[in-house]
Amino acid sequence: SASENGFVGTVVKTVEPEDSVEQFAEYRRLKNTMEQMMMTGVPNPYFTVHDSVVSDTTIVDGQTLISFASYNYLGLSGHPAVSAAAADAVAKYGTSVSASRLVSGEKPIHGQLERKIAKWIGVDNSILMVGGHATNETTIGHLVGEGDLIVHDSLAHNSIVQGALLSGARRRPFPHNDFAALDRLLTENRSRYRRVLIAIEGVYSMDGDFSDVPSFIEVKKKHRAMLMVDEAHSFGTMGQHGRGMAEYFDINARDVDIWMGTLSKSAASCGGYIAGSNALIELLRYTAPGFVFSVGMPPAQVAAALAAIETLEKEPERVQRLRDRSELFLSLCHEAGLDTGDSEGTPVVPVITGNSMVALRLSNRLKGDGINVQPILYPAVDESAARLRFFITSEHSEEQIRFTVARTAAHIAELGFDSKPAAMS
Ligand code: PMP
Repeated sequence: SASENGFVGTVVKTVEPEDSVEQFAEYRRLKNTMEQMMMTGVPNPYFTVHDSVVSDTTIVDGQTLISFASYNYLGLSGHPAVSAAAADAVAKYGTSVSASRLVSGEKPIHGQLERKIAKWIGVDNSILMVGGHATNETTIGHLVGEGDLIVHDSLAHNSIVQGALLSGARRRPFPHNDFAALDRLLTENRSRYRRVLIAIEGVYSMDGDFSDVPSFIEVKKKHRAMLMVDEAHSFGTMGQHGRGMAEYFDINARDVDIWMGTLSKSAASCGGYIAGSNALIELLRYTAPGFVFSVGMPPAQVAAALAAIETLEKEPERVQRLRDRSELFLSLCHEAGLDTGDSEGTPVVPVITGNSMVALRLSNRLKGDGINVQPILYPAVDESAARLRFFITSEHSEEQIRFTVARTAAHIAELGFDSKPAAMS
């Protein structure tokens, strides 16, 4: 009866049941956005099928395009030594380790890669996980909880936000790169929380700017917080040898509590890592759900990342070449009067169109010129921040870069006139 259920005197609100995805409001919104995109007459820019390694070029529909749409920053995916190492590992260990590493999935190359990454960065040890996104989610979700605070950069990657939500800790974003605002926030709030985790990125993947890690270290020390730096886009690209933000700023890597990175970009593989103190890694090895209850990283992925880092050790000039090409791309954009937002010489250079329609049309026109670049549209960014995002690689030639910036500037000059305002929003 109602009284047994404790509902006497209360108004029970009934809701329409939804038992199929077609009914979900979020599904209808998605369909609506797709229809609007179709109405522009520009082909769907997502899930383009690429028939080759994507490096300075790619093959789409049998056509070779200059590509600026992959994170193969150092051209190591497709490098013969890296591919051969992956093939050898498959021959020796098979395609799966078929168990969590705790159980029977441990191979010698797991430990080798973990020690390699730790040494590369300059900390005690590291731990591999099967995905970069999963690494952030499970690690952040696990290290803080109720009674704790996580403060993250307002532009932090989805995986950081998801980890924070999973953790159950209080979550507060702070204005992008603003360590002074973070300092004020912690001055007011630190005393209410047991642990405080500050999460930032090295290089920001939408804007191509980077964080002032030494200043964040000062703030974290002052407030007895822990600092986590996501090096997805700085591992392999920042610092003279590509060792990341610690090398770039010439700081003691141990001053950052948690270094996170993904192996899917410069390291030409797939999977993520956490690097830091012995205690941190030991705790995660025995207790992090996404590690303990998940299969070990597959042999091919481990061997590829190991070979990629070894290749980079032998050929550090790749990093310098990447920097030269990135700076060339950026300075040519500036000369052409293009809006590159906050990009500062990293291999990520946005060209902001301020309008999703223009971004979509621009990417389509560039495709006609033989150039592959991804538009970033509302709602991924604010409508006024709609853009093309160029990822530079060490393999791009100066000629490819000059041609691309020239074509982009030419199309923007034209599209600026016939664009329709904010059609995608
Ligand atoms: N962190 C950042 C900052 C990223 O940009 C990404 C992916 N682009 C990830 C984590 C997740 O890495 P992965 O794609 O290897 O899962």
